[in-house]
Amino acid sequence: MSGPAQNTPDHVSPDQTNSDQTDTLTLLGTGDSKGVPRFWCACAVCAEARGVNGQPGLNRRTRTATLLRSGARVALLDAGPDTHAGLARLSGPLVPDAVFISHAHNDHLLGLGDLLDYARFAPGRLRVYAPPEVVPQIAARFPYAFPAGEGGPVQPIPPQGVPVGEVVVRAFRVPHGANGHSHAYRLDRPAGAGGDGWSAAVVTDAIGIPPGLAREWLRAPGGAGLDTLVLGTSFEDESGAPLTSRSVYDVRGALRLPWARAAGQVVLTHLSHGVDVRRAGHLPPGWRYAHDDLTVHLTAAAARPGPSPSHNL
Ligand SMILES: [Zn+2]
Ligand SMILES: [Zn+2]
Repeated sequence: MSGPAQNTPDHVSPDQTNSDQTDTLTLLGTGDSKGVPRFWCACAVCAEARGVNGQPGLNRRTRTATLLRSGARVALLDAGPDTHAGLARLSGPLVPDAVFISHAHNDHLLGLGDLLDYARFAPGRLRVYAPPEVVPQIAARFPYAFPAGEGGPVQPIPPQGVPVGEVVVRAFRVPHGANGHSHAYRLDRPAGAGGDGWSAAVVTDAIGIPPGLAREWLRAPGGAGLDTLVLGTSFEDESGAPLTSRSVYDVRGALRLPWARAAGQVVLTHLSHGVDVRRAGHLPPGWRYAHDDLTVHLTAAAARPGPSPSHNL
């Protein structure tokens, strides 16, 4: 039996939040929709991902879920099916202040079930947001959480965004190739008393973003590149597949995107078994492959210490 007594916010430990004023992203899940290893697959990447003696390989990747921390506030950006396992790996209890869902694909949404259960036990504690057009799709997937006549537990993300600590989270619509469209997150910390501002975007599921959209959403306010870009690249090279069948950028294509090249740091995520993170030597300085539980510091590009060696995993 479970009940409210086991789920009260009192169980949130302060050691799960930043006591300083830094902003970070922790990528709990960095795999594509099917995860790595594919359970049916014997390729070299999947074999390495399975690991040895119970220790996972470097290519073990779960589905998308990302923690944004700003000071004492925490948001969860997407909640894939492995979200519970990702939260269970943290050193202590954590209830995000807000959860955002980018689009209603299973690999970004199915973990929301656990969170909606929590929201029911602790009303008002957990705010869930999605782009307005995605809210009814979530309601169709979790009908029990949307009783008739009630507003439901998921709010539309307002155009001006939602503050999480010092960071403003907004969502913008992006093409998702054969899968229609998705949304990406724009994150901004305005410059102010707390120090330098920065701009970042988390674009996990997109392909073919038109230049006008990139100009609007994938540049810093002054027109320079973003300080941080987290970009989904499911495969290293998908040029063999017809463009009409693809739904996410590949690494080869990402390296040619002007707005990606202009970013201060680029973290490639949403990686399938078509990417081997042991082979990252071809990535330019400032670019790296993500791995589950990677923490990325969100700062102004100029404030970042020296070239990061981390692209050589
Ligand atoms: Zn996805
Ligand atoms: Zn998707």
